[in-house]
Amino acid sequence: MSPAPSLQQTYVEALPDLSMPWRAASVEQPRLVAFDADLAAELGLDSEWLRGAEGVRMLAGQVDERVPTYAQAYAGHQFGSYSPVLGDGRALLLGEYVDPSGRRHDLHLKGSGRTPFARGGDGYAVIGPMLREYLMGQAMHGLGIPTTRALAVVATGREVRRERPLPGAILCRVADSHLRVGTFQYAASLRRFDVLEALADHAIDRHHPSAREHDNPYLALFDEVCRVQAELVAAWMGVGFVHGVMNTDNMTISGQTIDYGPCAFIDAHDPRAVFSSIDHQGRYAYGNQPGIAQWNLARLGEALLPLIAGAEPGEDADKAVVDDAVAAATAVLEAYAGRYEEAFLRLMGAKLGLPSDAETGRVRSLATDLFALMTREKVDHTLFFRALTDGTTHALVDVPEFDDWSQRRAALLGPEEETARAAMRAVNPVYIPRNHLVEEALAAATEGDLAPFERLVDAVRRPYEPRPGLEDFTHPAPPDAAPHVTYCGT
Ligand code: AMP
Ligand code: MG
Ligand code: MG
Repeated sequence: MSPAPSLQQTYVEALPDLSMPWRAASVEQPRLVAFDADLAAELGLDSEWLRGAEGVRMLAGQVDERVPTYAQAYAGHQFGSYSPVLGDGRALLLGEYVDPSGRRHDLHLKGSGRTPFARGGDGYAVIGPMLREYLMGQAMHGLGIPTTRALAVVATGREVRRERPLPGAILCRVADSHLRVGTFQYAASLRRFDVLEALADHAIDRHHPSAREHDNPYLALFDEVCRVQAELVAAWMGVGFVHGVMNTDNMTISGQTIDYGPCAFIDAHDPRAVFSSIDHQGRYAYGNQPGIAQWNLARLGEALLPLIAGAEPGEDADKAVVDDAVAAATAVLEAYAGRYEEAFLRLMGAKLGLPSDAETGRVRSLATDLFALMTREKVDHTLFFRALTDGTTHALVDVPEFDDWSQRRAALLGPEEETARAAMRAVNPVYIPRNHLVEEALAAATEGDLAPFERLVDAVRRPYEPRPGLEDFTHPAPPDAAPHVTYCGT
Protein backbone atom coordinates (compact mmCIF):
# COMPACT_ATOMS: atom_id res chain seq x y z
CA MET A 1 0.00 0.00 0.00
CA SER A 2 1.26 3.48 -0.86
CA PRO A 3 2.16 5.62 2.12
CA ALA A 4 0.54 8.62 0.36
CA PRO A 5 -2.83 9.44 1.91
CA SER A 6 -5.73 8.32 -0.21
CA LEU A 7 -7.96 11.29 -0.88
CA GLN A 8 -11.63 11.55 -1.82
CA GLN A 9 -13.63 14.39 -3.32
CA THR A 10 -17.19 13.98 -2.01
CA TYR A 11 -17.71 17.76 -1.89
CA VAL A 12 -16.69 18.26 -5.49
CA GLU A 13 -18.74 15.27 -6.63
CA ALA A 14 -21.88 16.39 -4.80
CA LEU A 15 -21.42 20.05 -5.72
CA PRO A 16 -19.74 20.44 -9.11
CA ASP A 17 -21.08 24.00 -9.37
CA LEU A 18 -19.20 25.10 -6.26
CA SER A 19 -15.62 24.41 -7.28
CA MET A 20 -13.25 24.46 -10.22
CA PRO A 21 -10.45 22.03 -10.97
CA TRP A 22 -7.22 23.95 -10.73
CA ARG A 23 -3.56 23.20 -10.31
CA ALA A 24 -0.97 24.61 -7.95
CA ALA A 25 1.77 26.81 -9.37
CA SER A 26 4.96 24.85 -9.80
CA VAL A 27 7.40 24.75 -6.93
CA GLU A 28 10.92 23.71 -7.81
CA GLN A 29 12.44 23.20 -4.41
CA PRO A 30 9.88 22.82 -1.65
CA ARG A 31 11.40 22.70 1.81
CA LEU A 32 9.54 21.72 4.97
CA VAL A 33 9.77 24.40 7.65
CA ALA A 34 7.08 23.32 10.09
CA PHE A 35 5.39 19.97 10.49
CA ASP A 36 2.95 18.77 13.14
CA ALA A 37 3.92 15.15 13.65
CA ASP A 38 1.34 14.79 16.43
CA LEU A 39 -1.45 15.83 14.10
CA ALA A 40 -0.14 13.45 11.45
CA ALA A 41 -0.10 10.64 14.01
CA GLU A 42 -3.59 11.53 15.22
CA LEU A 43 -4.82 11.28 11.65
CA GLY A 44 -2.97 8.06 10.97
CA LEU A 45 -0.83 9.72 8.29
CA ASP A 46 2.67 8.50 7.54
CA SER A 47 4.94 11.23 8.92
CA GLU A 48 8.06 9.71 7.48
CA TRP A 49 6.59 9.75 3.99
CA LEU A 50 5.15 13.25 4.40
CA ARG A 51 8.54 14.56 5.46
CA GLY A 52 10.26 12.86 2.55
CA ALA A 53 10.70 14.30 -0.93
CA GLU A 54 7.40 13.00 -2.29
CA GLY A 55 5.41 14.05 0.77
CA VAL A 56 6.82 17.56 0.75
CA ARG A 57 5.97 17.83 -2.93
CA MET A 58 2.38 16.89 -2.11
CA LEU A 59 2.31 19.49 0.69
CA ALA A 60 3.37 22.05 -1.93
CA GLY A 61 0.58 20.98 -4.30
CA GLN A 62 2.95 19.17 -6.69
CA VAL A 63 0.75 16.14 -7.23
CA ASP A 64 0.33 13.86 -10.21
CA GLU A 65 -1.45 15.58 -13.11
CA ARG A 66 -4.11 12.89 -13.06
CA VAL A 67 -5.07 13.84 -9.51
CA PRO A 68 -7.25 16.92 -9.72
CA THR A 69 -7.21 19.61 -7.04
CA TYR A 70 -9.91 22.26 -6.71
CA ALA A 71 -10.50 25.91 -5.94
CA GLN A 72 -13.74 26.29 -3.99
CA ALA A 73 -16.26 29.02 -4.76
CA TYR A 74 -17.84 31.17 -2.09
CA ALA A 75 -19.28 34.61 -1.60
CA GLY A 76 -19.07 36.72 1.51
CA HIS A 77 -19.74 39.88 3.41
CA GLN A 78 -16.38 41.55 3.99
CA PHE A 79 -16.62 44.24 6.66
CA GLY A 80 -20.35 44.33 6.00
CA SER A 81 -20.27 44.70 2.21
CA TYR A 82 -21.25 41.84 0.02
CA SER A 83 -18.90 40.33 -2.55
CA PRO A 84 -20.83 37.89 -4.72
CA VAL A 85 -17.69 36.00 -5.77
CA LEU A 86 -14.73 35.46 -3.47
CA GLY A 87 -13.58 31.85 -3.50
CA ASP A 88 -10.15 30.32 -3.08
CA GLY A 89 -7.98 32.96 -4.69
CA ARG A 90 -4.74 31.39 -3.53
CA ALA A 91 -5.84 28.10 -2.08
CA LEU A 92 -6.71 24.61 -3.28
CA LEU A 93 -8.55 21.63 -1.89
CA LEU A 94 -6.20 18.66 -2.18
CA GLY A 95 -8.94 16.32 -1.14
CA GLU A 96 -10.72 14.70 1.79
CA TYR A 97 -8.95 12.24 3.97
CA VAL A 98 -10.86 9.78 6.13
CA ASP A 99 -8.88 8.91 9.24
CA PRO A 100 -8.88 5.44 10.82
CA SER A 101 -11.68 6.47 13.19
CA GLY A 102 -13.85 7.35 10.18
CA ARG A 103 -13.63 11.09 10.58
CA ARG A 104 -13.37 13.09 7.35
CA HIS A 105 -10.92 15.98 7.01
CA ASP A 106 -10.17 18.40 4.22
CA LEU A 107 -6.52 18.76 3.27
CA HIS A 108 -6.22 22.22 1.86
CA LEU A 109 -3.34 24.35 0.61
CA LYS A 110 -2.99 28.07 1.04
CA GLY A 111 -0.48 30.07 -0.99
CA SER A 112 -0.41 27.64 -3.92
CA GLY A 113 -0.73 30.22 -6.69
CA ARG A 114 -3.38 32.20 -8.51
CA THR A 115 -6.74 30.65 -9.28
CA PRO A 116 -9.68 32.01 -11.28
CA PHE A 117 -10.82 33.58 -7.97
CA ALA A 118 -7.58 35.50 -7.44
CA ARG A 119 -8.89 38.90 -8.62
CA GLY A 120 -5.95 41.27 -8.13
CA GLY A 121 -3.98 38.98 -5.82
CA ASP A 122 -0.78 37.17 -6.73
CA GLY A 123 -1.96 33.85 -5.34
CA TYR A 124 1.00 33.49 -3.02
CA ALA A 125 1.59 33.58 0.69
CA VAL A 126 4.73 34.38 2.63
CA ILE A 127 6.39 32.54 5.44
CA GLY A 128 5.56 34.86 8.36
CA PRO A 129 1.76 34.79 8.01
CA MET A 130 1.74 31.05 7.23
CA LEU A 131 3.76 30.31 10.36
CA ARG A 132 1.39 32.60 12.26
CA GLU A 133 -1.54 30.48 11.09
CA TYR A 134 0.34 27.32 12.07
CA LEU A 135 1.11 28.72 15.52
CA MET A 136 -2.40 30.04 16.17
CA GLY A 137 -3.96 26.72 15.21
CA GLN A 138 -1.60 24.97 17.62
CA ALA A 139 -2.47 27.41 20.38
CA MET A 140 -6.22 27.13 19.85
CA HIS A 141 -6.08 23.37 19.72
CA GLY A 142 -4.00 23.32 22.89
CA LEU A 143 -6.56 25.56 24.54
CA GLY A 144 -9.29 23.08 23.62
CA ILE A 145 -11.04 25.44 21.21
CA PRO A 146 -12.42 24.02 17.95
CA THR A 147 -10.07 24.96 15.16
CA THR A 148 -8.70 24.15 11.76
CA ARG A 149 -5.07 23.11 12.13
CA ALA A 150 -1.96 23.32 10.04
CA LEU A 151 -0.25 20.07 9.21
CA ALA A 152 2.73 21.75 7.61
CA VAL A 153 4.30 24.87 6.22
CA VAL A 154 6.52 24.46 3.17
CA ALA A 155 8.88 27.15 1.91
CA THR A 156 8.63 27.42 -1.86
CA GLY A 157 11.93 29.14 -2.55
CA ARG A 158 9.96 31.75 -4.47
CA GLU A 159 10.50 35.38 -3.64
CA VAL A 160 7.11 37.02 -3.15
CA ARG A 161 6.60 40.74 -3.54
CA ARG A 162 5.08 42.41 -0.53
CA GLU A 163 6.14 45.74 1.00
CA ARG A 164 9.54 44.11 0.40
CA PRO A 165 10.46 40.77 -1.19
CA LEU A 166 9.68 37.95 1.23
CA PRO A 167 10.12 34.17 1.16
CA GLY A 168 7.07 32.38 -0.24
CA ALA A 169 5.37 29.54 1.62
CA ILE A 170 2.42 27.17 1.41
CA LEU A 171 0.38 26.08 4.39
CA CYS A 172 -1.35 22.71 4.44
CA ARG A 173 -4.52 23.09 6.48
CA VAL A 174 -6.59 20.32 8.00
CA ALA A 175 -10.25 21.20 8.55
CA ASP A 176 -13.45 19.29 9.23
CA SER A 177 -14.47 21.00 5.99
CA HIS A 178 -14.20 24.35 4.26
CA LEU A 179 -17.96 24.91 4.20
CA ARG A 180 -18.50 28.51 5.19
CA VAL A 181 -21.44 30.84 5.63
CA GLY A 182 -20.16 32.33 2.37
CA THR A 183 -20.49 28.97 0.60
CA PHE A 184 -24.23 29.06 1.34
CA GLN A 185 -24.45 32.68 0.24
CA TYR A 186 -22.82 31.73 -3.06
CA ALA A 187 -25.10 28.72 -3.57
CA ALA A 188 -28.18 30.81 -2.75
CA SER A 189 -27.11 33.46 -5.24
CA LEU A 190 -27.10 30.88 -8.06
CA ARG A 191 -30.89 30.60 -7.56
CA ARG A 192 -30.64 26.89 -8.07
CA PHE A 193 -32.73 25.13 -5.47
CA ASP A 194 -31.08 21.80 -6.28
CA VAL A 195 -27.57 23.16 -5.61
CA LEU A 196 -28.56 24.80 -2.35
CA GLU A 197 -30.29 21.63 -1.26
CA ALA A 198 -27.30 19.45 -2.18
CA LEU A 199 -25.02 21.79 -0.23
CA ALA A 200 -27.22 21.71 2.85
CA ASP A 201 -27.52 17.92 2.62
CA HIS A 202 -23.74 17.63 2.36
CA ALA A 203 -23.33 19.90 5.39
CA ILE A 204 -25.86 17.91 7.40
CA ASP A 205 -24.25 14.58 6.55
CA ARG A 206 -20.82 15.87 7.28
CA HIS A 207 -21.27 18.03 10.35
CA HIS A 208 -24.74 17.97 11.82
CA PRO A 209 -26.31 14.58 11.12
CA SER A 210 -28.77 15.00 14.00
CA ALA A 211 -30.54 17.66 11.90
CA ARG A 212 -31.76 14.87 9.64
CA GLU A 213 -34.06 13.59 12.42
CA HIS A 214 -35.89 16.89 12.59
CA ASP A 215 -39.21 17.70 10.82
CA ASN A 216 -37.44 20.51 9.03
CA PRO A 217 -33.80 19.39 8.65
CA TYR A 218 -32.70 22.71 7.14
CA LEU A 219 -34.08 24.72 10.02
CA ALA A 220 -32.34 22.24 12.32
CA LEU A 221 -29.09 22.70 10.38
CA PHE A 222 -29.36 26.44 10.92
CA ASP A 223 -30.02 25.82 14.60
CA GLU A 224 -26.98 23.55 14.90
CA VAL A 225 -24.67 26.06 13.23
CA CYS A 226 -25.96 28.75 15.61
CA ARG A 227 -25.26 26.40 18.50
CA VAL A 228 -21.69 25.55 17.53
CA GLN A 229 -20.89 29.16 16.73
CA ALA A 230 -22.28 30.35 20.07
CA GLU A 231 -20.00 27.86 21.81
CA LEU A 232 -17.03 28.83 19.66
CA VAL A 233 -17.30 32.58 20.15
CA ALA A 234 -17.83 32.11 23.91
CA ALA A 235 -14.58 30.13 23.98
CA TRP A 236 -12.76 32.91 22.08
CA MET A 237 -14.05 35.47 24.55
CA GLY A 238 -12.83 33.39 27.47
CA VAL A 239 -9.23 33.42 26.27
CA GLY A 240 -9.24 36.96 24.90
CA PHE A 241 -8.95 35.93 21.25
CA VAL A 242 -9.71 38.51 18.57
CA HIS A 243 -10.30 36.84 15.20
CA GLY A 244 -9.91 40.14 13.41
CA VAL A 245 -11.67 39.33 10.14
CA MET A 246 -15.02 37.75 10.91
CA ASN A 247 -16.31 38.08 7.38
CA THR A 248 -19.02 35.60 6.44
CA ASP A 249 -16.52 33.70 4.29
CA ASN A 250 -14.38 33.18 7.38
CA MET A 251 -17.10 31.52 9.46
CA THR A 252 -17.41 27.76 9.23
CA ILE A 253 -20.47 25.54 9.25
CA SER A 254 -18.55 23.00 11.35
CA GLY A 255 -17.92 25.43 14.21
CA GLN A 256 -14.13 25.39 13.83
CA THR A 257 -12.11 28.59 13.90
CA ILE A 258 -10.78 29.33 10.43
CA ASP A 259 -8.49 31.82 8.72
CA TYR A 260 -5.88 33.13 11.09
CA GLY A 261 -5.02 36.40 9.39
CA PRO A 262 -5.03 39.56 11.46
CA CYS A 263 -5.93 37.70 14.66
CA ALA A 264 -4.38 38.31 18.07
CA PHE A 265 -4.86 37.64 21.75
CA ILE A 266 -5.53 40.67 23.89
CA ASP A 267 -3.03 41.69 26.52
CA ALA A 268 -4.91 44.20 28.70
CA HIS A 269 -8.60 43.39 28.80
CA ASP A 270 -10.51 45.76 26.53
CA PRO A 271 -13.76 45.19 24.62
CA ARG A 272 -12.62 47.75 22.05
CA ALA A 273 -9.37 45.94 21.30
CA VAL A 274 -8.71 45.83 17.55
CA PHE A 275 -5.43 44.80 15.96
CA SER A 276 -6.16 44.69 12.25
CA SER A 277 -4.70 47.53 10.24
CA ILE A 278 -7.84 47.76 8.11
CA ASP A 279 -10.54 47.55 10.80
CA HIS A 280 -10.90 51.30 11.21
CA GLN A 281 -14.44 51.16 12.58
CA GLY A 282 -13.68 48.47 15.14
CA ARG A 283 -16.30 46.23 13.56
CA TYR A 284 -14.39 43.13 14.64
CA ALA A 285 -13.23 44.42 18.03
CA TYR A 286 -12.94 41.86 20.83
CA GLY A 287 -16.22 42.85 22.48
CA ASN A 288 -18.17 42.94 19.21
CA GLN A 289 -17.50 39.33 18.26
CA PRO A 290 -20.62 37.74 19.79
CA GLY A 291 -22.86 40.25 17.99
CA ILE A 292 -20.97 39.96 14.72
CA ALA A 293 -21.32 36.18 14.82
CA GLN A 294 -25.08 36.65 15.09
CA TRP A 295 -25.02 39.09 12.17
CA ASN A 296 -23.16 36.49 10.10
CA LEU A 297 -25.59 33.80 11.16
CA ALA A 298 -28.45 36.02 9.97
CA ARG A 299 -26.81 35.91 6.53
CA LEU A 300 -26.74 32.11 6.75
CA GLY A 301 -30.42 32.08 7.72
CA GLU A 302 -31.27 34.22 4.70
CA ALA A 303 -29.37 31.89 2.39
CA LEU A 304 -31.15 28.85 3.85
CA LEU A 305 -34.61 30.39 3.72
CA PRO A 306 -35.78 28.76 0.47
CA LEU A 307 -34.88 25.37 1.94
CA ILE A 308 -36.49 26.11 5.28
CA ALA A 309 -39.67 27.17 3.44
CA GLY A 310 -39.39 24.23 1.06
CA ALA A 311 -40.03 26.56 -1.86
CA GLU A 312 -38.03 27.10 -5.02
CA PRO A 313 -36.95 30.70 -5.36
CA GLY A 314 -38.80 32.54 -8.11
CA GLU A 315 -41.86 30.34 -7.84
CA ASP A 316 -44.99 31.88 -6.46
CA ALA A 317 -44.37 30.35 -3.10
CA ASP A 318 -47.29 30.38 -0.73
CA LYS A 319 -46.87 33.55 1.30
CA ALA A 320 -48.02 31.92 4.51
CA VAL A 321 -45.38 29.20 4.10
CA VAL A 322 -42.63 31.74 3.54
CA ASP A 323 -43.81 33.82 6.50
CA ASP A 324 -43.69 30.73 8.70
CA ALA A 325 -40.16 29.96 7.54
CA VAL A 326 -39.03 33.51 8.26
CA ALA A 327 -40.59 33.36 11.72
CA ALA A 328 -38.96 30.01 12.47
CA ALA A 329 -35.51 31.13 11.27
CA THR A 330 -35.83 34.38 13.21
CA ALA A 331 -36.64 32.45 16.38
CA VAL A 332 -33.52 30.32 15.88
CA LEU A 333 -31.41 33.39 15.30
CA GLU A 334 -32.80 35.08 18.40
CA ALA A 335 -32.08 31.98 20.45
CA TYR A 336 -28.40 32.42 19.55
CA ALA A 337 -28.12 35.31 22.02
CA GLY A 338 -29.32 33.19 24.92
CA ARG A 339 -27.15 30.29 23.85
CA TYR A 340 -24.12 32.47 23.59
CA GLU A 341 -24.74 33.91 27.01
CA GLU A 342 -25.28 30.48 28.52
CA ALA A 343 -22.04 29.19 27.04
CA PHE A 344 -20.16 32.29 28.08
CA LEU A 345 -21.43 32.24 31.66
CA ARG A 346 -20.73 28.53 31.98
CA LEU A 347 -17.18 29.25 30.94
CA MET A 348 -16.82 32.31 33.15
CA GLY A 349 -18.16 30.35 36.11
CA ALA A 350 -15.42 27.78 35.47
CA LYS A 351 -12.73 30.44 34.97
CA LEU A 352 -13.73 32.05 38.24
CA GLY A 353 -13.71 28.70 40.04
CA LEU A 354 -17.41 28.80 40.85
CA PRO A 355 -19.41 25.63 41.37
CA SER A 356 -21.37 24.64 38.26
CA ASP A 357 -24.68 25.24 40.06
CA ALA A 358 -23.83 28.86 40.96
CA GLU A 359 -26.82 31.06 40.25
CA THR A 360 -26.66 32.42 36.70
CA GLY A 361 -27.68 35.96 37.59
CA ARG A 362 -24.87 36.23 40.11
CA VAL A 363 -22.28 34.78 37.73
CA ARG A 364 -23.45 37.28 35.10
CA SER A 365 -23.05 40.27 37.39
CA LEU A 366 -19.68 39.05 38.66
CA ALA A 367 -18.42 38.55 35.11
CA THR A 368 -19.76 41.88 33.86
CA ASP A 369 -18.35 43.83 36.78
CA LEU A 370 -15.01 42.07 36.54
CA PHE A 371 -14.62 42.86 32.84
CA ALA A 372 -15.53 46.50 33.46
CA LEU A 373 -12.96 46.71 36.24
CA MET A 374 -10.28 44.95 34.18
CA THR A 375 -10.92 47.32 31.29
CA ARG A 376 -10.67 50.37 33.49
CA GLU A 377 -7.53 49.16 35.26
CA LYS A 378 -5.99 47.73 32.04
CA VAL A 379 -5.48 44.33 33.63
CA ASP A 380 -3.80 41.65 31.54
CA HIS A 381 -6.53 39.17 30.60
CA THR A 382 -4.49 35.98 30.73
CA LEU A 383 -2.40 36.85 33.77
CA PHE A 384 -5.49 37.83 35.75
CA PHE A 385 -7.29 34.51 35.51
CA ARG A 386 -4.15 32.57 36.27
CA ALA A 387 -3.42 34.82 39.26
CA LEU A 388 -6.96 34.26 40.48
CA THR A 389 -6.24 30.55 40.30
CA ASP A 390 -3.07 30.97 42.34
CA GLY A 391 -4.47 33.60 44.73
CA THR A 392 -2.00 36.28 43.62
CA THR A 393 -4.22 38.94 42.05
CA HIS A 394 -3.00 41.70 44.37
CA ALA A 395 0.03 42.18 42.12
CA LEU A 396 -2.23 42.89 39.13
CA VAL A 397 -5.16 44.86 40.46
CA ASP A 398 -5.18 46.75 43.69
CA VAL A 399 -8.22 48.98 43.93
CA PRO A 400 -10.98 48.95 46.60
CA GLU A 401 -13.65 47.87 44.08
CA PHE A 402 -11.66 44.73 43.48
CA ASP A 403 -11.82 43.85 47.16
CA ASP A 404 -15.61 44.18 47.01
CA TRP A 405 -15.68 42.07 43.91
CA SER A 406 -13.48 39.42 45.55
CA GLN A 407 -15.84 39.23 48.50
CA ARG A 408 -18.81 38.76 46.22
CA ARG A 409 -16.94 35.99 44.44
CA ALA A 410 -15.89 34.37 47.73
CA ALA A 411 -19.54 34.18 48.75
CA LEU A 412 -20.22 31.98 45.73
CA LEU A 413 -17.26 29.63 46.13
CA GLY A 414 -17.80 26.08 47.27
CA PRO A 415 -16.00 24.53 50.25
CA GLU A 416 -13.57 22.42 48.17
CA GLU A 417 -10.93 25.05 47.55
CA GLU A 418 -8.20 22.76 46.20
CA THR A 419 -10.57 20.98 43.83
CA ALA A 420 -11.76 24.36 42.59
CA ARG A 421 -8.20 25.52 41.98
CA ALA A 422 -7.33 22.39 40.07
CA ALA A 423 -10.40 22.91 37.88
CA MET A 424 -9.42 26.54 37.30
CA ARG A 425 -5.96 25.49 36.20
CA ALA A 426 -7.55 23.46 33.45
CA VAL A 427 -9.43 26.44 31.97
CA ASN A 428 -7.11 29.39 32.61
CA PRO A 429 -4.02 29.17 30.38
CA VAL A 430 -0.52 30.25 31.34
CA TYR A 431 0.77 30.42 27.77
CA ILE A 432 -0.91 32.19 24.90
CA PRO A 433 0.79 33.43 21.74
CA ARG A 434 1.44 36.91 23.05
CA ASN A 435 1.69 39.51 20.32
CA HIS A 436 5.22 40.64 20.96
CA LEU A 437 6.46 37.03 21.14
CA VAL A 438 4.66 36.16 17.91
CA GLU A 439 6.20 39.14 16.14
CA GLU A 440 9.69 38.27 17.39
CA ALA A 441 9.33 34.63 16.42
CA LEU A 442 7.98 35.39 12.94
CA ALA A 443 10.59 38.05 12.26
CA ALA A 444 13.35 35.58 13.19
CA ALA A 445 11.77 32.83 11.09
CA THR A 446 11.57 35.15 8.09
CA GLU A 447 15.32 35.66 8.48
CA GLY A 448 15.81 31.89 8.63
CA ASP A 449 16.04 31.33 12.40
CA LEU A 450 13.23 28.99 13.42
CA ALA A 451 14.34 28.47 17.02
CA PRO A 452 12.15 31.17 18.67
CA PHE A 453 9.14 30.00 16.64
CA GLU A 454 9.65 26.39 17.66
CA ARG A 455 10.03 27.34 21.29
CA LEU A 456 6.81 29.35 21.18
CA VAL A 457 4.91 26.54 19.46
CA ASP A 458 6.14 24.21 22.14
CA ALA A 459 4.84 26.51 24.90
CA VAL A 460 1.38 27.12 23.46
CA ARG A 461 0.74 23.50 22.63
CA ARG A 462 0.35 22.79 26.35
CA PRO A 463 -1.00 26.12 27.55
CA TYR A 464 -2.31 25.05 30.93
CA GLU A 465 0.93 23.49 32.21
CA PRO A 466 3.53 25.89 33.58
CA ARG A 467 7.03 24.60 32.80
CA PRO A 468 10.42 25.84 33.92
CA GLY A 469 12.41 27.82 31.38
CA LEU A 470 9.34 29.42 29.80
CA GLU A 471 8.86 32.25 32.30
CA ASP A 472 9.48 34.93 29.68
CA PHE A 473 6.41 33.70 27.78
CA THR A 474 4.10 34.71 30.59
CA HIS A 475 5.09 38.37 30.66
CA PRO A 476 2.96 40.93 28.89
CA ALA A 477 4.52 43.20 26.28
CA PRO A 478 6.87 45.78 27.77
CA PRO A 479 4.85 48.94 28.53
CA ASP A 480 6.81 50.97 25.98
CA ALA A 481 6.07 48.48 23.15
CA ALA A 482 4.34 49.95 20.12
CA PRO A 483 0.65 49.03 19.78
CA HIS A 484 0.29 45.70 18.05
CA VAL A 485 -0.94 45.89 14.45
CA THR A 486 -1.82 42.93 12.24
CA TYR A 487 -2.30 42.76 8.48
CA CYS A 488 -4.71 40.82 6.25
CA GLY A 489 -3.97 38.85 3.12
CA THR A 490 -0.19 38.68 3.30
P1 AMP B 1 -9.27 36.44 3.66
O1 AMP B 1 -9.35 37.88 4.07
O2 AMP B 1 -8.00 35.77 4.03
O3 AMP B 1 -10.44 35.67 4.12
O4 AMP B 1 -9.28 36.42 2.06
C1 AMP B 1 -10.33 36.97 1.34
C2 AMP B 1 -10.25 36.61 -0.12
O5 AMP B 1 -9.07 37.12 -0.72
C3 AMP B 1 -10.26 35.13 -0.41
O6 AMP B 1 -11.03 34.97 -1.58
C4 AMP B 1 -8.81 34.83 -0.65
O7 AMP B 1 -8.63 33.70 -1.47
C5 AMP B 1 -8.35 36.08 -1.37
N1 AMP B 1 -6.90 36.36 -1.26
C6 AMP B 1 -6.22 36.78 -0.17
N2 AMP B 1 -4.92 36.94 -0.46
C7 AMP B 1 -4.76 36.62 -1.76
C8 AMP B 1 -3.64 36.60 -2.66
N3 AMP B 1 -2.41 36.93 -2.28
N4 AMP B 1 -3.87 36.19 -3.93
C9 AMP B 1 -5.09 35.85 -4.34
N5 AMP B 1 -6.18 35.85 -3.57
C10 AMP B 1 -6.03 36.24 -2.28
MG1 MG C 1 -10.69 33.68 4.28
MG1 MG D 1 -6.91 35.07 5.32
